[in-house]
Amino acid sequence: MFWDRELETLDRSALTRLQLERLQATVVRVADRVPFYRRRFEECGVAPEQIRSLDDVRRLPFTTNADLRENYPDGLLAVERSDVLRLHTSSGTTGKPKALFFSRRDLDQAAGLVARCFVMTGATEADVLQNMMTYGLFTGALMLHYGAEKVGLLVIPAGPGNSDRQLLLMQDFGTTIIHLTPTYALYFADLLEQRGVRPGRDLALRKAYVGAEPYTEETRRKIEQGLGVDVYNCYGLSEMNGPGVAFECEYKQGLHLWEDNFLLEIVDQATGEPVPDGQPGELVLTTLNREAMPLLRYRTRDITALLPAPCPCGRTHRRIQRITGRADDMLILRGVNIYPQQIERVLMALPEVGRNYLIMLDGLDEMTLQVELAEGGFDGQVDHLVSLQQQVVERVRAETMVKPKVELVPPGTLPVSEGKAKRVIDRRRL
Ligand code: ADP
Ligand code: ZN
Repeated sequence: MFWDRELETLDRSALTRLQLERLQATVVRVADRVPFYRRRFEECGVAPEQIRSLDDVRRLPFTTNADLRENYPDGLLAVERSDVLRLHTSSGTTGKPKALFFSRRDLDQAAGLVARCFVMTGATEADVLQNMMTYGLFTGALMLHYGAEKVGLLVIPAGPGNSDRQLLLMQDFGTTIIHLTPTYALYFADLLEQRGVRPGRDLALRKAYVGAEPYTEETRRKIEQGLGVDVYNCYGLSEMNGPGVAFECEYKQGLHLWEDNFLLEIVDQATGEPVPDGQPGELVLTTLNREAMPLLRYRTRDITALLPAPCPCGRTHRRIQRITGRADDMLILRGVNIYPQQIERVLMALPEVGRNYLIMLDGLDEMTLQVELAEGGFDGQVDHLVSLQQQVVERVRAETMVKPKVELVPPGTLPVSEGKAKRVIDRRRL
């Protein structure tokens, strides 16, 4: 099923033509209206008329997180203030907020992209969406909300937290789709177990759109089992509208990135040069269809890789691999680069391990993992606990080359955040 079959299956040559037209128009627009970009173009010695092919995008300057902050609140605006309808800020997991503005047309386009994602995963107007992301300044909930309304679903703007009320809403209104973070999904799965609710039978839940934080295939499987749902990975960032920038189709082999709206590059983090297709690198996105606040070559700091082969679903928009982490998530421990997701993958593959864990770094580069046991994951026999602990130590060491200390703790003892999970506590810098 397609929301916009023509655009979603546009042949590659027509799609790249459309991208070039839109890129050129965007460059002209920002050169004309945004002094910041005008200055940058001068510094790089590039003029809009030099952008003659998509490869010429590399002549353009990058836009970074810091540029957004330095131009806070409205230095990157390309329209009059009276032409903007909505302000969002990023959730600020990494520092001061960034302000993002959207015009009426931008909001409509963003909702259209989300509508594509809904229909791509088989949602129809008969579905009921319980939106368990945070409403407010974040794009997470609202951007998905309006896309769902465009398709015609019944939307329950539940927000996160208050899990017993969530359950009641699900039961009373027959929720079929939920949208939430992986952390909250695992937490909610535990709650269902505690309340004796059998998801496949007692609830109408069928799908979960899970995003906003990186997670692994192992976590996906845990969520699918715990909630009795089909999990679809949903990727986005406030700078590029929020959720629905890239989304999995029924094949779940990577996420289609809507290339008529975003020009995608994957670059080497250090050099900014393109990496060969299929190699991991930092995702860089240029908005191709934005009015209020176009962004050129935005460094997302998210690490992914391009999947070059076409997808059997017939969509021509290329797919990216699940985000494996953020460039700034990387830990360096005793000279070894480690992503928290490597540790998560090991932990979530063990059935005795519960939903939550913490990575603590202290002393002279020591790593301690606090790991929650699964509900019913401990049978009271101390030697079982010791052997689980040894297994975790060995597997983490095999994966990361660093031997951790491991503390197993009872289910529900580690803190849960309503927004994005904070998994790493680095005391080395204190
Ligand atoms: P902030 O940059 O303050 O966290 P956002 O709320 O815009 O603000 O979060 C966007 C970021 O969330 C992305 O850049 C990415 O790091 C992460 N993210 C979003 N969706 C996913 C996903 N499906 N998988 C992995 N990471 C994701
Ligand atoms: Zn597909």
